[in-house]
Amino acid sequence: MEKTPPVGFVALVGAGPGDPELITLKAVRHLARADVVLCDALANPALLAHCREDARVLDVGKLADGRHTPQEVTNRLLIEEARAGHYVVRLKGGDPFVFGRGGEEAIALTEARVPHEVVPGISSALAGPAAAHVPVTHRAIAQHVTIVTASSAFDVEGLADKWSLLAEAGGTLVFLMARKKLGLIQDRLLAAGVDPAMPCAMVQSATLPEEKIVHSRLAHIVDDVEAAGLGTPALLVLGQAVGLADSMTPILSTVAAAEAAPEAIHV
Ligand code: SAH
Repeated sequence: MEKTPPVGFVALVGAGPGDPELITLKAVRHLARADVVLCDALANPALLAHCREDARVLDVGKLADGRHTPQEVTNRLLIEEARAGHYVVRLKGGDPFVFGRGGEEAIALTEARVPHEVVPGISSALAGPAAAHVPVTHRAIAQHVTIVTASSAFDVEGLADKWSLLAEAGGTLVFLMARKKLGLIQDRLLAAGVDPAMPCAMVQSATLPEEKIVHSRLAHIVDDVEAAGLGTPALLVLGQAVGLADSMTPILSTVAAAEAAPEAIHV
């Protein structure tokens, strides 16, 4: 009789936007149990402190300079490790199902009949605006929020009319993968009729010590971001709600400031 191979388990886990405190208790539980962790470039390596000392960590990050592990290789590794009977954590920046190709991984695991679970995380699409004091929805100002990829996938021929749909839709627009495409985003939105004075902000490394935020207007955002020397990862948030940031400058109490000190972070 054919022997049934051992089948492990894969948890597709959201690592949150960067700050190691912004991870869920469920994510920490999976990390603590993992035999193998396949780690994303955007997941904070500090989170690996939750793993067992003998856990194997494989870096399958996709880097901005073009070097990356092909998605098929990551999918295959997840399946192979699980079929070897291992408890596998796929640690992905933000939320696994927000522009993280987590959907492709879940489909590959389903097709391979590998038991798996998705653990949502705090997406940078929400944490980035929050870091810039932008409520992505606000009564009477922004009734909806649209999360868009600024990667080339969005600007291929035939999709040009999407820009006018975005411009017409209004609300709050959040562009991920936006740093290198900032000039293109600005051009397309202006051409689609968005007010050049529309408030917007670019947020780099939200919730991390190296966080940088530039508040501007659509017509000036490229110049202001260049002048401030922002790098990646970065997102753009645009809409009337961005203007509310002026009305909510934080007033930190000494208690909150002490709690925000790095020594308060236990990982
Ligand atoms: N799944 C992730 C997004 C992956 S796409 C999530 O839910 O957050 C990668 C893009 O996310 C980056 O190009 C950038 O636009 C954005 N991003 C991720 N972490 C970020 C951070 N700490 N600050 C600003 N943008 C971030």
